[in-house]
Amino acid sequence: MIEKGSSMRILLVDDVQLDRMQLAIRLKQLGHIVEAVGSGKQALNVYCDFDPELVLLDISMPDMDGFEVASEVRRQFPEWVPIIFLSGHEEPEMIAKAIDAGGDDYLIKPVNKVVLNSKLIAMQRIAHMRRELKQSTAKLEELNILLQQQANEDGLTKLYNRRYMDTKLEESIAWHGRRKVCMSVILLDVDFFKPYNDNYGHIQGDRCLQSLATILKRLFVRAGEYVGRYGGEEFILILSDTDGENAHVQASRIKEALHEMNYAHAHSRVSDRVTVSQGVLSFVPRGDEPIASIYEQVDQSLYQAKQSGRNTFIHHSIVKLARE
Ligand code: GH3
Ligand code: MG
Ligand code: MG
Repeated sequence: MIEKGSSMRILLVDDVQLDRMQLAIRLKQLGHIVEAVGSGKQALNVYCDFDPELVLLDISMPDMDGFEVASEVRRQFPEWVPIIFLSGHEEPEMIAKAIDAGGDDYLIKPVNKVVLNSKLIAMQRIAHMRRELKQSTAKLEELNILLQQQANEDGLTKLYNRRYMDTKLEESIAWHGRRKVCMSVILLDVDFFKPYNDNYGHIQGDRCLQSLATILKRLFVRAGEYVGRYGGEEFILILSDTDGENAHVQASRIKEALHEMNYAHAHSRVSDRVTVSQGVLSFVPRGDEPIASIYEQVDQSLYQAKQSGRNTFIHHSIVKLARE
């Protein structure tokens, strides 16, 4: 008998109404969900919505015969669903042709009850395995996406991590180099963050970095703008198609946004709130610059910003970088 708790959605295609109804009733009595149609055309029309787990297909039908229907099903719906042909013909050539057209099995009409039952049980097992496979594939895909995100993400701030930014910088250098377009990089570092941690505590320090990250993410949302955590209390920005003048504007926006955020820092020696120093570099790459040399240059600008009193930015525009 049919295994319990495993009904199938069966698409039954037969042009002879009596045959169709009799078989449909029998299948329903066995607990299956049946969509019974009288032609190949109808079968193809309902296929997607009904989403069958098994197709029982008559061969001799006007308009489209079973072979044509099977070929169309295989062509239009790439996800494999078992097809069992039903036919009065017993010739081996017919069976061969049926399998050739995309069928998986062949039953001689009138269908023997015991044989039909056994075939259904076999197909149920396949349908069950397919369902499980589909579920685990979907789960695996979800996990893969999550894993990919996590691999590119900084845990604390949810910004891109250093590894991802390295890759993006390399890609951007090549892209802008090919097109001879100017790009900019900004490296920023929180001012007096050690006293911040010492006075407010490390957890509050983490919150401060998260708030900073949120602000940066909000400021740079356009395609070609990448915000990442460089490490510790340093952040890095890659701004595509951004020349020196525009980079200047962007660095000012960061400074203003932080001022408005008004994150209290009573132990800073330059302000009553959290501020950052920024190194800004704008350049038209050759295309093969090592990322380390870009980081080095932008770090020098940042160092100068610190030297010139903090809460400010130093901007360098260069046309060519020395070959290493
Ligand atoms: P400067 O203005 O010259 O940048 O001074 P600073 O105090 O910010 O610089 P310093 O490099 O001496 O201190 C950086 C501090 O940042 C020290 C370190 O504990 C803290 N820090 C780095 N990563 C994290 C983090 O993930 N969370 C917290 N809370 N603190 C961090
Ligand atoms: Mg630092
Ligand atoms: Mg600092």
